[in-house]
Amino acid sequence: MTSSHVVVTGGAGFLGSHLCERLLGEGHRVTCLDNFLTGKPENVAHLLEDPAFTLTRADLTEFVHVPGPVDLVLHFASPASPIDYLRLPIQTLKVGAIGTWHALGLAKEKGARFVLASTSEVYGDPQVHPQPEDYWGHVNPIGPRGVYDESKRYAEALTTAYRGAEGVDTAIVRIFNTYGPRMRPNDGRAIPTFIRQGLAGEPLTVAGDGSQTRSVCHVDDTVDGILRLAASGHPGPVNIGNPDERSVLRIAQDVIAATGSRSTIEFVDRPVDDPGVRRPDTALAEELLSWKPAIDWREGLSATVAWFREQDLSQED
Ligand code: NAD
Repeated sequence: MTSSHVVVTGGAGFLGSHLCERLLGEGHRVTCLDNFLTGKPENVAHLLEDPAFTLTRADLTEFVHVPGPVDLVLHFASPASPIDYLRLPIQTLKVGAIGTWHALGLAKEKGARFVLASTSEVYGDPQVHPQPEDYWGHVNPIGPRGVYDESKRYAEALTTAYRGAEGVDTAIVRIFNTYGPRMRPNDGRAIPTFIRQGLAGEPLTVAGDGSQTRSVCHVDDTVDGILRLAASGHPGPVNIGNPDERSVLRIAQDVIAATGSRSTIEFVDRPVDDPGVRRPDTALAEELLSWKPAIDWREGLSATVAWFREQDLSQED
């Protein structure tokens, strides 16, 4: 990408803040739109001194205006962790529907390329493994996770309609579980929860018998894949995730090793509709974007643990 103006919705969140940082590092101008529903200004505080960075408090479910030309809209605003979307079901559906509509309207007005942050959750509790992009998924629309899964499925449909009916240059990225610095220790996702518990010497709470699998990708790899898709002319959907699959129990054991903790493992109830398996088929990303994850799990985990050690976890929500 040559130097351009990029709007990142949800830019004060976990993934969004890494995107803003990386784009500024590559010489782009970045406008971050966020209402701080699940993110916080502190995530981008270190970028505020850069004159190429603008942080604007804005709710995507309201009308949004960005002055001047825009080349790319990265639409990442949405609660994303189960704890957040179960607590904020209506906001999650609204930002997926009305928020995506406004973000697409912005891209249309500016003649900008548009990238929707979709999710592996559109595959639901998958009956095809690993999941290729042409798998339609197995989602319960009225289950507790439906608010997130269906919001993203609707957002994909809306994005596709804007491409066909309005000629907007759109792309859809289906992001699989990503981990790294700036995850919230209490956001309910397995890796930050395990790290927080390990560092506190508390038991690691593993859902069910821990045999369900996850494939986790370091945030630097995920950001690289997203930006490669943005720079390509491809509409997607493209899976971005790490096919390196392991059981949740194994992840917990690796976190105990990485934190040097004496924590034990405590088995707790599985959440309703918790997917049994999850692994991206990344053949399309390799073929179209020459992308595959480069960061080894143990290295990525130990760097993430090091970041968590530096935080005052008692002050975090
Ligand atoms: P996050 O909660 O850290 O970030 C989301 C950001 O969106 C927050 O800063 C929040 O304040 C903002 N936001 C929410 N509603 C908004 C609204 N109405 N207006 C403006 N801003 C709003 O979550 P994340 O993990 O960084 O996820 C970012 C995006 O990536 C989400 O769309 C999510 O669905 C997608 N995604 C993330 C993962 C992952 O592993 N982290 C996996 C798949 C998809």
